[in-house]
Amino acid sequence: MESKSDASAATTPIISSSSSPPPPFSPRVVLSPCAACKILRRRCAERCVLAPYFPPTDPAKFTIAHRVFGASNIIKFLQELPESQRTDAVNSMVYEAEARIRDPVYGCAGGGYERENDRRRPQGRGGNDKIDALGRLLTRILRHMATELSLTMRGDGFINVEDLLKLHLKTSENIQLKSHTVDEIREAVRRDNKQRFSLIDENGELLIRANQGHSITTVESEKLLKPILSPEEAPVYVHGSYKKNLESILSSGLKRMNRLHVHFSCGLPTDGEVVSGMRRNVNVLIFLDIKKALEDGIAFYISDNKVILTEGIDGVVPVDYFQKMESWPDRQPIPF
Ligand SMILES: [Zn+2]
Repeated sequence: MESKSDASAATTPIISSSSSPPPPFSPRVVLSPCAACKILRRRCAERCVLAPYFPPTDPAKFTIAHRVFGASNIIKFLQELPESQRTDAVNSMVYEAEARIRDPVYGCAGGGYERENDRRRPQGRGGNDKIDALGRLLTRILRHMATELSLTMRGDGFINVEDLLKLHLKTSENIQLKSHTVDEIREAVRRDNKQRFSLIDENGELLIRANQGHSITTVESEKLLKPILSPEEAPVYVHGSYKKNLESILSSGLKRMNRLHVHFSCGLPTDGEVVSGMRRNVNVLIFLDIKKALEDGIAFYISDNKVILTEGIDGVVPVDYFQKMESWPDRQPIPF
């Protein structure tokens, strides 16, 4: 049993060679807990999304990827990909993480990883080049260059598209970013079948993000986000909301909406000057049963500014994990 899984892990290539056929996709023997869950100290569920790619026999593989990309990004990334593409994706990610650790600023941008992308791209030049070149430049900026270009990047990695289009940078087709339009950015995102980008419209602002591998924010958020390992790490786990949202919350749980995480505070709105993770004018408090949630393997993180973050289960914290609800500020129990 051990040795069988050992062997399959050891022969997994870091980058699959272009000349050999793609490895057949087959169910594998999965040992539990996987290296990832062991390192994150969470329960490795039967259908753990990480387990097939991070066998317990190779903990370094996960450690490296986690250090650079952060566990929550890796999980999100895997969940968004079809299973048949996950092995390749994880291998690329580990490869890129290793390169990034060797060269923290540029990693393998412009090196092996870019070449690998090029190799997968259809051969031949056509009318698509301009948009493809734009896509490549966007990837590079969003993943690696935001800091040096002084772009404002949100904690979840999003950058304003308008800011991007002001940059003095040329694509490999020798076209200034400033000469591109918002529609061309949309087209580059739409055409990107590897789904490297997310594009969202928030309060009339168009925002773009690299879905994976952004060295700057993920190295940053890795520094900022620490996994919560026991309920005692915060005095309270509370989500502030509004009575008008109660019906929807009670029917479908707390959702992350278009954010990466559902946010909780570790204090009440009157604790200290400002409680991060909660608006001042909330009128409902939802207290989390953190013990139960951790026991069930839901991962929680705490940021530098003491906001508690979780992806919940597929982006939702179900009502099962609510300990109690109260109105605020009069703190009357709200039955549910
Ligand atoms: Zn696992």
